[in-house]
Amino acid sequence: MNTDTSHALFTRAQARLPGGVNSPVRAFGSVGGEPFFAARAEGPYLWDVDGNRYIDYVGSWGPMIAGHAHPAVMAAVAETMRHGLSFGVPNALEVDMAERLAALVPSLEMVRMVNSGTEATLSAIRLARGATGRSRIVKFEGCYHGHGDSFLVKAGSGALTFGLPNSPGVPQSLADLTLTLPYNDFEAADALFALHGAEIAGLIIEPIAGNMNCILPREGYLQHLRALTSKHGALLIFDEVMTGFRVAPGGAQELFGVTPDLSTFGKIIGGGMPVGAYGGRRELMAQVAPSGPIYQAGTLSGNPVAMAAGLATLDLLGAPGFHDALLGKTHRLCDGLEAAARDAGVPVTTNRAPAMFGLFFTDQKVESFAQATACDVAAFRRFFHGMLARGVYLAPSAYEAGFLSAAHDDADIDATVEAARGAFADARG
Ligand code: PLP
Repeated sequence: MNTDTSHALFTRAQARLPGGVNSPVRAFGSVGGEPFFAARAEGPYLWDVDGNRYIDYVGSWGPMIAGHAHPAVMAAVAETMRHGLSFGVPNALEVDMAERLAALVPSLEMVRMVNSGTEATLSAIRLARGATGRSRIVKFEGCYHGHGDSFLVKAGSGALTFGLPNSPGVPQSLADLTLTLPYNDFEAADALFALHGAEIAGLIIEPIAGNMNCILPREGYLQHLRALTSKHGALLIFDEVMTGFRVAPGGAQELFGVTPDLSTFGKIIGGGMPVGAYGGRRELMAQVAPSGPIYQAGTLSGNPVAMAAGLATLDLLGAPGFHDALLGKTHRLCDGLEAAARDAGVPVTTNRAPAMFGLFFTDQKVESFAQATACDVAAFRRFFHGMLARGVYLAPSAYEAGFLSAAHDDADIDATVEAARGAFADARG
């Protein structure tokens, strides 16, 4: 595979961009080698600047659930752009988006649009602190909620990938206000709330953890956290930046039947444009400026082009059977990968949610951060490069969930499994 043009670009990029990238995991630091530079994308495929095609299981880290460059999304963007790119006054599409989100996710009585998942989560905890008058927040080891200071404590995603779960530059006094828990551990949560319950403004969780690979909540775990936070007067915040509209039309809260006080979103609701949102009960959201005193603002928030891309994407998700079909594809892929690994004599297990999966180099069912980080990362690296060389792009980290889109068809999935037969042999080392 010729990658000369990507190599030349990466050489230039490293001189001017930290690590040659604008977001750390893109640098391939934990898998080794160099990233490829994208030239274009369509459906389930990415093409690099050297003309190589990859079946893509990253999907721009989540937004491209309908597939890349879906004609309906592209048309909505093109049409909206004709009228201007940003107005700085309210526009109708923001209202359409707020109404659409509320219709899909009943707990979103009111929402505020922002520009990224990071903005959504840091605004949500400001609201939790402002509304409760308490300072501490609780998060889970290996969960990632963007790069806000309060969240870079035992964080997942790139922070975990690069071994920097606690970032320099976060004041200790602020980090001290973030309490952490092991994911899926009932007793630890009980013990923490017994000790600090009255000081906790909110508990934030990825209802399916997608930033320490992919870990589903144990039976009853989210319900337990719902009861625990309510008992102690703390807000339950679901970070659905990844799971929102992916795992069910109403996100993980619909899938598991648990209603949080606040939720955060991003990715899919921008259809590939920069976007985020946070929302929840009216009585809480009404405390956000200008209807309330808790300040939060944004020059480009509610951007019409982003709203148009997001609304067009949400339209596509509304097709009957959309999520069921994605779950079927997820099983086809994961069953195929497990069989290929078995045939190659490599211990591998998978975790699955609709359109979201995790592949673990272990023979155990993975339910915790400790188990995820105990997997064979060196084997993953070899597997990753074996797949890439065979035209399949997986997230370049052992700690990221994989994503499927509606555009992946059976032939793409079967080709992926075929590639995996060779890549698992590579992974054996
Ligand atoms: N929350 C979760 C669960 C995420 O997965 C991410 C990003 O991957 C974020 C928040 C941060 O979103 P953004 O990268 O748009 O700031």
